[in-house]
Amino acid sequence: MYSLMIYNLDKDKKTIKVSIAMRKRNTIQRALVFEAVNQLKCHATADEIYEAIVKEHPNISRATVYRNLKQLAETGEIRKMETPGGADRFDHQCHDHYHVKCEKCGRFFDVDMAYISGLEKSIQNNHGFVFTGYDILFRGICPDCQKSSERHDR
Ligand SMILES: [Zn+2]
Ligand SMILES: [Zn+2]
Repeated sequence: MYSLMIYNLDKDKKTIKVSIAMRKRNTIQRALVFEAVNQLKCHATADEIYEAIVKEHPNISRATVYRNLKQLAETGEIRKMETPGGADRFDHQCHDHYHVKCEKCGRFFDVDMAYISGLEKSIQNNHGFVFTGYDILFRGICPDCQKSSERHDR
């Protein structure tokens, strides 16, 4: 009976140790993913974020990166951007803002302009919709692509 109790105690200790180690690992992975989103800045896709992390941390799995991106977006530490017809992108800027997509390279950039709040209130709501938000996506050619097309023109 006595030895059984000791055994259980040891097992509990082991379980606690394992869960602390796992929590530590989870925290580190989460921090890595958060840092990558902050460093990439230009609204990277989950794949691009994974590629950037795995270069320095070859043991991290794609599933781990995806899971952490989802969790960070849920807690509002990063923002998930849904793009029409494209992969979701992740943004380090968490305040409401608009984007411009480069038509040549497909990258997304922030647009410096005041956010229009309550725009959905001006909709003549004849169809009984409940509006929850909106996205404005501008189109353009980024400075890098303008430069490279100038070079081609010569
Ligand atoms: Zn471009
Ligand atoms: Zn942005």
